[in-house]
Amino acid sequence: MKIICIGRNYPAHARELNNEIPEDPVIFLKPETAVLQSGNTFFLPTFSPEIHYECEVTLKIGKKGKDIPETQADSYLSGVGLGIDFTARDLQQKLKQKGLPWELSKAFDKSAVISEFYPIHSFQNIHELSFELFINGLQKQQGNTREMLFSIPKIISFVSMYFTLIAGDIIFTGTPAGVGKVNHGDLLAGKLNGHEILTVSIGNTLVKI
Ligand code: ZN
Repeated sequence: MKIICIGRNYPAHARELNNEIPEDPVIFLKPETAVLQSGNTFFLPTFSPEIHYECEVTLKIGKKGKDIPETQADSYLSGVGLGIDFTARDLQQKLKQKGLPWELSKAFDKSAVISEFYPIHSFQNIHELSFELFINGLQKQQGNTREMLFSIPKIISFVSMYFTLIAGDIIFTGTPAGVGKVNHGDLLAGKLNGHEILTVSIGNTLVKI
């Protein structure tokens, strides 16, 4: 399986990082080794002092597809959930300034936290999903899939022009404004349409006992 991530898909988040609003979706990949199931601890890596959370709606692909038309995109979805796209922001800024690929800052081990996926028919409308991220009980991010620059069908259609999608692939659909740093001891909780479906705690690899 592969993880395909969309960058700058919410205008307010693009602005907070001083990025322009893209004409086409901004795409990057994470490998399978980036997966961390909800309910586990994310250990801060030694290579970055600035790991940011990005809470995102996630999509699971249910069947193989290539050049999928927008009108058929929903039929390729087997589930919807929530994820956190952990990002080494300091490293990403350095790579961006040099015009280099972002992988080291985005695709590292356990950088893709995923919740369970819920079948599409369990939602009234996947184009109006509200989601929120809380850290230690305080709301840090809040979004709704209706605010996406590139809708879910558009994303599936666009991505499948370049990458054949296979059952089990996961798409991270971009983060709303409010990203920030995580710290040792933090507890992150994500809610989708008001239901808490994702938790992850932050541990510190630098602490040796
Ligand atoms: Zn992201």
